[in-house]
Amino acid sequence: MTTRFTGKSVLVTGGGSGIGRATARAFAAEGATVAVLGRRKPSLDDTVALIEASGGTASAIAADVTNADDLARAIDTVVVRHGGLDIAFNNAGIVTTGTVADIDERDWTTTLSTNLTGVWLSMKYEIAHMRANGGGVIVNTASNLGAHMTRPGMGAYVATKAAISALTRTAAIENIGAGIRINAISPGPADTAMSLRPGESPADRAGRLRSSIPIGRVGSLDEIAAAVLWLASPEAGFMVGHDLVVDGGASV
Ligand code: NAD
Repeated sequence: MTTRFTGKSVLVTGGGSGIGRATARAFAAEGATVAVLGRRKPSLDDTVALIEASGGTASAIAADVTNADDLARAIDTVVVRHGGLDIAFNNAGIVTTGTVADIDERDWTTTLSTNLTGVWLSMKYEIAHMRANGGGVIVNTASNLGAHMTRPGMGAYVATKAAISALTRTAAIENIGAGIRINAISPGPADTAMSLRPGESPADRAGRLRSSIPIGRVGSLDEIAAAVLWLASPEAGFMVGHDLVVDGGASV
């Protein structure tokens, strides 16, 4: 077992499911104390229970990343509870559909506030703590649908994810002098509910996506988590403002 993150305080937003839960578990398995943040306390508690059952340390904090006051309070609580904030994985996000011509205006606004404003606000409050503490590492979740490729009918989602890539580069340059290393990850279709169409089974999804993913399958959550942990680790110490695509070649 490796212990790259022993003694580190790690925050994972959207930690109650999918990529966030898998990454929280991976950080904890490598020695980190993990705070999982999200809207739904019961699923966050389930992530904590899974980590504790494996001998790790974690706590849950309920907050909505679109609510500035809620988020600031939650990040302050994590800092006090876990003695600081060394690493943040800003991963909370939603997907909506609708073509540019007909997307529902409320869906547009909710997608932007969750995916883009949520990542901006998260970085804003994390950076304040990291600057005061002499440094840190941030990884934001973008998507291969964004800066790397597009899909008709997903305009709001694609726009927010491309913007996360750009915001990550900007924040990275603004903060590297303060010892804060900021990068993004762009997963391709991964094995979570988000990549399933309504009523679709994982087997049906595999059939639908196989031809569009050169490797011939969706990504496992462990594969996505491993890439996040690498970006957050000292091994990636020269990576600044990068958007790492992990998509089985789908965008190639
Ligand atoms: P998921 O739905 O399991 O995870 C998203 C999490 O974000 C959920 O736990 C949800 O409760 C949380 N969340 C949503 N809105 C929030 C809010 N306002 N405040 C706090 N938490 C909120 O899906 P996932 O696949 O694990 O997605 C995680 C991230 O990965 C998302 O940003 C998504 O866009 C991105 N992504 C996923 C895929 C994929 O194929 N699954 C591909 C590319 C990118």
